[in-house]
Amino acid sequence: MKDINILVVEDEEMIREIIKTYAEKEQYMIYEAGTGKEAYELLEEREYQMIILDVMLPDTDGWTILRKVRKEKSIPVIMLTARGEEDDKLLGFDLGADDYVTKPFSAKELMARMKTVLKRNHVVTMGETINLGEISINTSFHQIQINDEELELTPLEYKLLMYFVNNRNMALTREQILNGVWGYDYFGNERTVDTHVKRLRKKIGETGDRIKTIRGIGYRMVVEE
Ligand code: CA
Repeated sequence: MKDINILVVEDEEMIREIIKTYAEKEQYMIYEAGTGKEAYELLEEREYQMIILDVMLPDTDGWTILRKVRKEKSIPVIMLTARGEEDDKLLGFDLGADDYVTKPFSAKELMARMKTVLKRNHVVTMGETINLGEISINTSFHQIQINDEELELTPLEYKLLMYFVNNRNMALTREQILNGVWGYDYFGNERTVDTHVKRLRKKIGETGDRIKTIRGIGYRMVVEE
């Protein structure tokens, strides 16, 4: 199950392909943008757990995108820059980039960096066990324990809970949840989300109180870290 969405903003198709091939082995879901315009469109559509962001783009530059993203979201960002642009590194960190990889890079190294950054940002990756308050999630076995008691969740409930966990403390619209959990080709409406959130809340007991309804928007899972 692919719960981690990563946006790759890079105009060189070859590089996007390589990143995609490796990242999919790690069970990441990759979305590709070749221009700044495409990147902004994709950013509107769903939540991402990470952005891989090239500096030199045809219609804008990575710094502009990074600045814009940082104003609204705290998504981890790894910048891709060309050799000889080492000064950019400082600018990147200044603007809040999480890491910085110089081209040409090895895909394996990038994957390792991605994992480190995701971990640092408490995003749950494959094969990990994560503890958030009373909730413990074993991602290898899709097992969830609350206060040491194992929960029987359907695959959809698990996916929905993981979506909240991976986007915790963020306000999520029903549309985003629908796209993130059910996918774009799902022909459903926003009531579907309400029904399933209601069911999930019931199933997870007091932890369900963490999933707050935000009137006029959607939901937010509140977890102190
Ligand atoms: Ca480029």
